[in-house]
Order: sequence, then C-alpha cells, then structure tokens
Amino acid sequence: MSVLTDLIYSGSGAVAGLAESAVNDAIAKHGADKKIAFPDTAYYFPTIYAATGVKVSTLGDLPACVGVLKSLITNEPNLDSALNAGLATAVGAEILEGLKYAESSNPYENESGIGFVPDPVIRSLGVPLVTGDIPGVAVVIGKADDPADVVKVVKDYQSKGIMSFLVGDCIEQCAEGGVKMGLELRVIPLGHDVTSVIHVVTVAIRAALIFGNVQPGDLAGLLKYTKERVPAFVNTFGAIDSVVVSAGAGAIALGFPVVVDMDLGTNQVPGALESVCDHAETVKKSLELREIKIKVTELPIPVAFAAAFEGEIIRRPDMHNECYSNKNPTAELVLMREPDEVEDHKITIVGPDFDECKELALGTFVEVTGKKMQADFEAVIERKFHAWFNYMEGVMHTGQRNQVRVRVSNAAYEAGLRIHDFAEVLYVMIMNEFDAVVDKCQVTIYTEPASAEAFRDEVAMPRYAQRDARLASMTDESVDQYYTCIMCQSFAPAHCCVVTPERLGLCGAVSWLDAKATNQLDPNGPCQPIPKEGCLDERTGRYESVNKVVAEATHGAVENVTLYSILEDPMTSCGCFECICGIEPVSNGVIIVNREYAGMTPSGMTFGELASCTGGGVQTPGYMGHGRQFISSKKFCAAEGGIKRIVWMPKELKDDVCDKLNKTAQELYGIENFADMIADETVTTDCEELFNWLTEKGHPVLEMDPLM
Ligand code: SF4
Ligand code: ZN
Repeated sequence: MSVLTDLIYSGSGAVAGLAESAVNDAIAKHGADKKIAFPDTAYYFPTIYAATGVKVSTLGDLPACVGVLKSLITNEPNLDSALNAGLATAVGAEILEGLKYAESSNPYENESGIGFVPDPVIRSLGVPLVTGDIPGVAVVIGKADDPADVVKVVKDYQSKGIMSFLVGDCIEQCAEGGVKMGLELRVIPLGHDVTSVIHVVTVAIRAALIFGNVQPGDLAGLLKYTKERVPAFVNTFGAIDSVVVSAGAGAIALGFPVVVDMDLGTNQVPGALESVCDHAETVKKSLELREIKIKVTELPIPVAFAAAFEGEIIRRPDMHNECYSNKNPTAELVLMREPDEVEDHKITIVGPDFDECKELALGTFVEVTGKKMQADFEAVIERKFHAWFNYMEGVMHTGQRNQVRVRVSNAAYEAGLRIHDFAEVLYVMIMNEFDAVVDKCQVTIYTEPASAEAFRDEVAMPRYAQRDARLASMTDESVDQYYTCIMCQSFAPAHCCVVTPERLGLCGAVSWLDAKATNQLDPNGPCQPIPKEGCLDERTGRYESVNKVVAEATHGAVENVTLYSILEDPMTSCGCFECICGIEPVSNGVIIVNREYAGMTPSGMTFGELASCTGGGVQTPGYMGHGRQFISSKKFCAAEGGIKRIVWMPKELKDDVCDKLNKTAQELYGIENFADMIADETVTTDCEELFNWLTEKGHPVLEMDPLM
C-alpha cells in the first residue's frame, strides 16, 4: 500500500472509531430518542442525507450511519477505494459535529468559528457565485509555520473575491495578521477542530440539493455536481496528520483539489493533490487547478479595490470624512449625452477635497455617450455606483439617487485616497463593464454645497422624475418583448427566469431593464429576448413564444410555463429566491416568507423547509420563489386573484413592501391600507388563529373562490 492510501485509511479509521464511541456515549447519556439537528436547515445531516437519503433526526438514527461509514473503509490498496474512505471521514466529521449540537444549541458560542452554515446563507450566495462575483471558494486548514504566509494567502483570496473558509489555528493567525473576517468580507472562520471542515463541505452538498435538484441518495449525481459546479479547493498549512489527509481525500472525492505546503514527493496525485512549498505560489496554483479565472481591474487608486470590501462598515471613530444627504446635498446621476457633449476621461472636481473639509457635499455626475447607449441604461449603470464605491477598501456607501451616505476611513485617507479617485473608479469601471454601450465618459464631482445643490435640484431630480414616470408606465402589456435569464444555470441547470416589466427575476437583482441591458451588452449572453407572441391564455399568462424559448433555454426540461400563476405551470425556482410564497389551505390564501426570517410560519414550515419544496429548476405547483419587489406587482399570483390572496408575511417584509402594496391594492380593488389586513408573526403563526384573525379583519380572501 502506498504511504498515501495508508494515511487515508488510518485517518478514516480513527474518525470512525471516534464517531462510534461518541454516538454510543451520547445515546447512553441522552437516550436514543433525543432529537438532534443542525440549526436552520431543511437537509438534516446534509452529507448523510445527500449520500444515502437517510433523514437523521434522533440519536438513535446514528448507529446505522456509523455502520455505513465503516463499510466505506475497505482498506483496499487503490486510490479510488481510499477516496471513498475519505467520504467516510466526512460522514464521521458530520456525526461528531452534529453531536456538538446535541449537547448545546449553540456549541460555537465561545469559539472564534461559526460552525454550521444555515441554509439561507447558502441561498444568498447563489447570485454572487453565478455572476462570478465570488469566483471560487477556498478552504484553508491548519497552522502556518510563518503566520505571515497564511495571512498573505487569505488576503490575496479576499482581494480576488474568493470566499475563504478557515479551519484551525490559521483563524487566530489571520485575525492577528489584520485579516478582516465575516460573511460579508468573504473570510469565514469555521472552527478549530478539523471536523469543523464539514461545515463548508455541507455548503457544497446543500448547493447540489438546493440548486442542482440532485436527489437524496444519488451519490454519483452528488459527486458529479460538486466536481463540475462548485469551484472549491483546499489549502493546508503546516504539518498534517492522517485525519487531515483522509479529510483531504474526501475533498478530492468531491472534486476539490488539495494543495499542501509540504513536499509529498511521489505521493502527489496530479490535478488532485499537489505540493506547493513556496507560499508565494499557493494562490496561483490553486486557481489553476480549479480553472478559476480572475478578472483583474487595474485601478490607479491608493487603496485596494475588491468585492470583498463591499460589506465593510466604517464607524464614527474610524471615519475621516463623511458625505451625507442629511447634512449636505448629495445626488448620483448617469446621463446620456450627444457625442460632442462628452470629452472622454475628463474629470472635474468642483469644491474642496478630503484634506480641506471633513463633511462634504457629493454630487456625482457621469455623462456618457455611445452609439448603442439608451436612456434606459442610465439607471442600470447608476445602480452600480453603490458597489463600486464600496469595493474601495476604507469606503462605505449606502443609498442611491439623492439619498446617499459615503464615509471614508482614516486608514484610506492616510493611504492617500482623495475625491479624484472616486471619479477614476467610476470612469474605469464604466468603460470596463459597459464598453458595449458606452464609447465616451466624463465625470464631474461637486463637493461644494451650493453647486451640489444646483446639480441635484436642476439636473438630477428632474431626470429621476422622468425615469419614474417611464417605469410606472412600463407594464407587461406596454412592451413587445420579455427576456429570459439563465445566469443561475451554472448551479441550477434546468432553471430559467422569465423577466417582464412587472415581474423581476426571483433573485431580486434582475429587472426587465437590467435584462434588456444585459442582452445589449452581451447579445449571446444569459438574457435573450422573447417576442410576445401566440397568447394561449391571458389569465395565466401563457404564451407559445415563452414556452418555446424556455424549452430551448432549459434544454427541454421545462416546456410549459405561465407568467402569472402559482398553481398552473408556475415559473421554476433556482434556489436563490429572495422570498417564497406558498398556498395556505385553511384561509385559501398564500403566505410569503423572506430568506431573512428564521421563525415559523402558519404553513407549519420555516423558510428553509418551504424553500426545500422547490428549487433546482423544478416547477412545484403551490410554491414559487420570487423577488421582494414582485409582491406589490399587479401581476403577483394574478391568475389566482392577485395580491388579495396574501394572508401572512413576516413583519419586516410587510413593513418593507407596505407602501407599494397598499398602493396596488388601492388601484386594483379600491382597498385602503390592505397591508393592515395581512397577519405577521406578531399576530400568529398558527393557521387556525390566522383564519380567525382574517375573519375579524374582513380580509377579502375569505370571499374568493377556493384555490383548488
Ligand atoms: Fe438567477 Fe433568475 Fe436572478 Fe437570473 S434573474 S440571476 S436566473 S434568479
Ligand atoms: Zn438563482
């Protein structure tokens, strides 16, 4: 037997032994009936569930799982068998970690890691992963001989947008080395025990169940999905023992290459297990092995620029400058001009810079011109300001249009960041991302209050008003084409969104205008026009042309789809939906739940449980993923009677959509303050109580036809 297979078997054997005795101890202590679950997931013990279909819910379910895991350890002296033993290690790690949650509801409370990653977080990662905003996932394990090395590697991943999960002492090494951590910052500490690596493994596994429609028990399908669609890889630092090696074998079985920082000599497996002893090469080699390509944007500014800094928060003591609409005039505007009105790369600053004034006005005025530019794309470009400003390390941006707050940190100021750099960022990024429609671009920034105010009131506000009027007039009836979006197919191969003016993509990130602009920027890309032809049924929004284009886009997986029905051939869901609606039989209505709400609903299911009923590009009549903004659309469940069906929403969501929802109810049915008739968790999460409450309120659903 080779040294490698030997190590793998010895590691998996050790984990199997640990898992077996831990299970026996736990059963002796708590009894076999004790309930056991990871927090906020609909997928039980995800590795065991996905690989075998077994739904672990009590301690008594575990001995059989230990049996399965032991059967995977054959000790046969070939690599394929040894990789199976690696999977056994993953199952063992899952059991050991799961038992921690049997002892305490929050075993990671006093740890520097976060432990189990809840389902909603995985769903929220869908869009950034498919758009390449997160180009890959690094799993960093161990303790570097020189802490500076692991710090450098993780910072490098961060600057490239790669999401890093840390396991072991490298967590402290990175923290001490000044790595900013957190989900938003794309560096996530998992835990110190090597078994905590399972928490990133189950992220990949649940991605297969959530987005890929892989069926529980289909191990081959699971391994194919993770290998082809989850761009993850592993880096180990420092000495590795047999348990780490066998965990690494599990990673390789899932298709994730492993790079170790010691010389393995002939034990290397090209493409799967490789040695890179020079840490300056670790990142490059890892990305090559997983074929991850990073788009680099060279920006002439004195601070780092990366998506990973988007979530950075700058508090008052760290703040050097602030531009805030409550104190000084602010506005952001992209305006389409004639070619002779724009001088390319001209940058004009009107007013003081960060060293002259602590609190500034901020009028950001971008004028563009281009043969293919359309006024409709102004807002699409303008919406990107938020992300681009945030990508600068040490800059925080919130809001849009004339309600904006920008903060600049002391560190960014010390590094030399000035207002001119903001203009440079806009210029470079627009010419980069919108080069198909923008030929020339000039930027003017007003930091002096009077000129910013004049810009806001005389140029920006009238333009916003024009755009709003255009948006309000834009209905599904007023346009002659819709668009597909298949961006999520890289995770959900059978999924296709149909985007219309009154129904944005279910992720909430793609409006009809966005889809139109995407099509213009990349004519062979993910958004294709659907001519509105061959209406088969107006009530449900059934079109020959939509069926045809969707069938093509999904390679035949979906042949009939309606635009406005939740019951009859509803649109498919990929998994990254902002909200899910589902029918509530007692009241004959629908409930809506958003991803952020972790509590119970009157359907007897949480968001995660409801969400697990749909997804993976499958049509599930009665359940449908959708964007937040769709709730107040006149087309929401229009075939079933529209928004009058809505009986329950979490309070935060209701408050968020309240004004627009009330307006729609007023316009459609003449109902005032409709949102007040919709229950939330502060009223009840019980369906009988809900029915009584709706009766008291005189909710219109009670007079509607039965849903089924
Ligand atoms: Fe994915 Fe649909 Fe959003 Fe496109 S519109 S990114 S397919 S969820
Ligand atoms: Zn999606």
